[in-house]
Amino acid sequence: MQQWICNEPGILVSQQVEMPQRTPGFSLLRVRNIGICGTDIHAFAGNQPFFSYPRILGHELAVEIVESDTFSPGELATIIPYFNCNSCGACAAGKSNCCENIQVFGVHTDGGMREYIVVEDRYILPGNGLSADELTLVEPLSIAAHGLRRAALNPGEKVLVMGAGPIGLFTILLAKIQGALVEVAEPNKARLQFCTENLRVAEASSTAFNTVIDATGNLNAIESGFAKIAHGGKYILIGLQKQAISFSHPEFHKREATLMSSRNATLEDFAYVMNLFRDKKIQAEKFISHRFTKNQVPDIFTKINDPSEQVIKAMISLAE
Ligand SMILES: [Zn+2]
Ligand SMILES: [Zn+2]
Repeated sequence: MQQWICNEPGILVSQQVEMPQRTPGFSLLRVRNIGICGTDIHAFAGNQPFFSYPRILGHELAVEIVESDTFSPGELATIIPYFNCNSCGACAAGKSNCCENIQVFGVHTDGGMREYIVVEDRYILPGNGLSADELTLVEPLSIAAHGLRRAALNPGEKVLVMGAGPIGLFTILLAKIQGALVEVAEPNKARLQFCTENLRVAEASSTAFNTVIDATGNLNAIESGFAKIAHGGKYILIGLQKQAISFSHPEFHKREATLMSSRNATLEDFAYVMNLFRDKKIQAEKFISHRFTKNQVPDIFTKINDPSEQVIKAMISLAE
């Protein structure tokens, strides 16, 4: 089978390798679609913290069951790419998303940029009628869903989403589904236009929000967000960057504000998103701006990083 491996930053190589072998409790899966996300782009560029090479990237997957003790061959599925230890305190508390020993598929271990993978059955979610395109978007939508579950929005509350990359867009989409009044802050005009046209959300003009959500992962944006929190409000950090954050303690105190991080997602978030697709509340095709075939794989990152391409969500389709 064919696989694509990032040997060092900036280098993606195609290789022919042996098929992976399945053991009991694991399924052999054929990869249909691989969504490309910021994590993959940063890992390829060499600026993802704690990343080691060589590594096979890719964690946003639509797969087909090939051999399994649990699932039917031919069935489409997605995977939860956060492999947890099931024995630490976070796992015991049901927070497998922030397991102390987490191994993220395609980040800490080799991921899905290959024709076949073997994955433990407990991480496989059968699609039950969802399309391959929908299944590819389940993971990034679940990241947004998890951040919003942390926020515990009340219908009608004012929400500011900072950043309109894929996670920001999905956060806006889900916050609107949950009945919030959403505004967006995004300096890139093309991305802002995508939001106003496709998600019918206004550019931020208010000064205070019950919930502020960062989806930029940009230090300056994150620090500027503290001033946007309403009294009694909360601030959820989905995006991640490398520096220490600083903010005014008196300003934070007078608001009695709550600050939360949001990491990965849990089964509950995945199930929520898959139900929204089943109920036709989300149109996958709106968000898929670029599709690549096998032959285009070695050059995809060059293309995705070209600002004139205006990439929303890019995916590699391995189906012939
Ligand atoms: Zn991702
Ligand atoms: Zn654990």
